[in-house]
Amino acid sequence: MARALYIHWPYCLAKCPYCDFNSHVRVGVDHARWKTALVNDLRYEASQTVYQEPLTSIFFGGGTPSLMLPSLVDGLLREAEGIWGFASDVEITLEANPSSVEATKFADLSAAGINRVSLGVQSLRDDALRFLGRLHDAREALGAIETARKFFERLSVDLIYARPDQTGADWANELDEVLALGTDHLSLYQLTIEPATRFATDVRRGVFDPLDNDRAADLFALTRDMTEAAGLPAYEISNHARPGQESRHNLTYWRYQDYVGIGPGAHGRRSGIATVRHRKPENYLAAIADRNHAVTEARELDRAEMASEALLMGLRLREGIDIQSLASRFGVKPDALIDETKASLYTDLGLVWRKAGCMGVTAEGMPLLDALLGELVCGELVAS
Ligand code: SF4
Repeated sequence: MARALYIHWPYCLAKCPYCDFNSHVRVGVDHARWKTALVNDLRYEASQTVYQEPLTSIFFGGGTPSLMLPSLVDGLLREAEGIWGFASDVEITLEANPSSVEATKFADLSAAGINRVSLGVQSLRDDALRFLGRLHDAREALGAIETARKFFERLSVDLIYARPDQTGADWANELDEVLALGTDHLSLYQLTIEPATRFATDVRRGVFDPLDNDRAADLFALTRDMTEAAGLPAYEISNHARPGQESRHNLTYWRYQDYVGIGPGAHGRRSGIATVRHRKPENYLAAIADRNHAVTEARELDRAEMASEALLMGLRLREGIDIQSLASRFGVKPDALIDETKASLYTDLGLVWRKAGCMGVTAEGMPLLDALLGELVCGELVAS
């Protein structure tokens, strides 16, 4: 059984206009106070869990965790190792921005135990980086990739495509350059306009128009074809890897296994309980100082909810889901999980595949994933 730990660092140097993550810009972050708070959060979570298995993956996400002091990262890893222990092949990922300043920390982060970095490159085009509000340029990104290679066993690069007016030829050229870098993992996200972001305001005011759905779908298909041909097939709707180089941490979520989530706004799943913590950094710190934990909700999920969540996560994966084993896992009837009439319809349309009790969404269906999930997953899962 995989056992994962997520640690959220809530700060960034600036807020990107497309971002709806729990990220905040503050001056004068008190790292010592954060160390105390996060260590207490870890200990609180340990007091609530009875896990015997060592951790198989840890993920520092954010925000911009590459802004953390390496000594803080080290302190948290030693604490987690002392509590749960690490599997011999533990994957320890940290999200990093590719600025030259942050790249200077890579040696120390590696010494602390980070063995995989996810670099938020986002584009290799300076005009696109300016549009996306990024603080680095393409030259710095390439430099950070080179430095990361020296210090970390594994490297993933994040890119944002389907930008306004981006053509297939533009994207093919850029993706070609990225593939030529030879990294083993790519997270390739389409630009989406999230509510309450600056881009949402810009679109409302007519500053720019998002790429239309048909062109975005064409770029999605192009992305699948190019990454597949380069030996990094999609294993999830937006994630591509050489076989064996998939993100073990993210697979824990998508395969619906337990994970501990600490830090502001972090979600967790432990033995059927969904945990949520204070989102705002100040509220999080105050709660920990006050009562030694920052959990705002620890809700027991019923079997139907868990089965539904597991379906929604699993159908993102190329490997799909095994309906029978999912039904047994949550004690529900297989025919209560999936709307069979609709599943047959979408299978005939080539958007869904079925094979020996397993089911998944085809490459053609993936651009329509959200709509398909709404159609396929039974609204009312009936306990057997
Ligand atoms: S660096 Fe990442 S987390 Fe921070 S604002 Fe930009 S997109 Fe959001």
